[in-house]
Amino acid sequence: MKPVGLLYVGSVLLHYGFDVTLIDLLNRHDPKIASFVKPKPDKQYGTGKFHTVEISKPPQLSFVPRKYKRYGAPEEFFIHELKGIEKPDAFFVTSSMTYWWPGVRQTIEVIKRVFPNALVVLGGVYARIYPDHARLHSGANIVYSADLSQLNTLLSDLFGESFDDDLSDWFERFDPAYELYDRLGYLVFFTSLGCVYNCSYCLTPKLYGKWVYRDHERILRMIRKYVHIFNVKDVVFFDDAALIDKENHFKPLLRKLIRANLGVRYHLPNGIHARLIDEELAWLLKQANFVTIKLGYETSGPLQNKTGGKVQDEDILRAAQMLRSVGFTSSEIQAYIMVNMPGQTEQDVMNAIETCRKAGISISLNEYTPIPNTTDWLELTSAGMLPADVDPFLLNNTVLPYWWKAGMDVATVQRLKDLAHGRTSTLRS
Ligand code: SF4
Repeated sequence: MKPVGLLYVGSVLLHYGFDVTLIDLLNRHDPKIASFVKPKPDKQYGTGKFHTVEISKPPQLSFVPRKYKRYGAPEEFFIHELKGIEKPDAFFVTSSMTYWWPGVRQTIEVIKRVFPNALVVLGGVYARIYPDHARLHSGANIVYSADLSQLNTLLSDLFGESFDDDLSDWFERFDPAYELYDRLGYLVFFTSLGCVYNCSYCLTPKLYGKWVYRDHERILRMIRKYVHIFNVKDVVFFDDAALIDKENHFKPLLRKLIRANLGVRYHLPNGIHARLIDEELAWLLKQANFVTIKLGYETSGPLQNKTGGKVQDEDILRAAQMLRSVGFTSSEIQAYIMVNMPGQTEQDVMNAIETCRKAGISISLNEYTPIPNTTDWLELTSAGMLPADVDPFLLNNTVLPYWWKAGMDVATVQRLKDLAHGRTSTLRS
């Protein structure tokens, strides 16, 4: 998990000559955190558990029989880092999962406690999806809900001078500014942005517009540079749709990575399109040393077509067979299955689990959450199955089955999770 969007903002600020400091409270590898809390050991590929603190549950969640925790570096560390910054002009805070907004508000509260006159700009996924909510609740002075191409306007408004370098090609021109870190366990990059599909549950096409990929020489130079600086062994591509136009994009990129032989492992954790995998692509992935391949499957049954038709059961079976035949193990290939999609039956999920078993691949079962402005959202709210003004808080995918009458109940979701993980029922009362 890396704040890649914020790192691009950092790049643009460095480009304009600003003095930039990064505080990443989720960087488990920050050596300074060790003075505040014992670091948790790494698991596989530079990943591991975040530091957590159990905090009191907000009253709106009192009906959920689960613990409520804050993840990330301790507050004392954050305050210490803030106090090390001399006369900051502005703070740029990012956000990811919309239902984590109380954490964003708390982050901004701490900044304003240390710098009462701080100018705080909030961006990221929550700010883009829920700008009105963020304006009301986050405590930020400015909620930035555009993409990076509009950053000039914001900077001119903030600092009263003109920033007029054309940023419309920011993705092509800039690398995410990893040099702002001291130490890292792995690197995350995007080689492409957007998607040409339009799945009913996904906001990617609306967030990014048309699908674009970056020049391969630039991608390779970026990877080489940061692998060298941080001496990391793991490089993650977080594209939403890496395999679109694979003959012009991902296959040539893979050939370059093979030739470059950087001595790292590569990962595709964001669900690639099973239908677009062919024998050559599978072979190139193996030769390049990819060790994590996740396939976007989501569900079996009629919803496959109703939600956009990106994949069928046969695509999963065929892709798995091709990947297995070039040497990928069952634990290196995993399919994402969503549970609790609108209109999904328990049998649909059971069939999807069975398909993965037949394919000889692992399963990652994730609970569905409705996202504003998606087709699902518009259908659910106009049919009265979801209040349009529901607090994003309550849309936490773990929380949803406890109250959402139009979806599966907690017992069903748990039964399916147990089935996916080969357990007997572990339902908590
Ligand atoms: S294919 Fe993936 S990225 Fe594209 S719209 Fe569907 S879920 Fe989103």
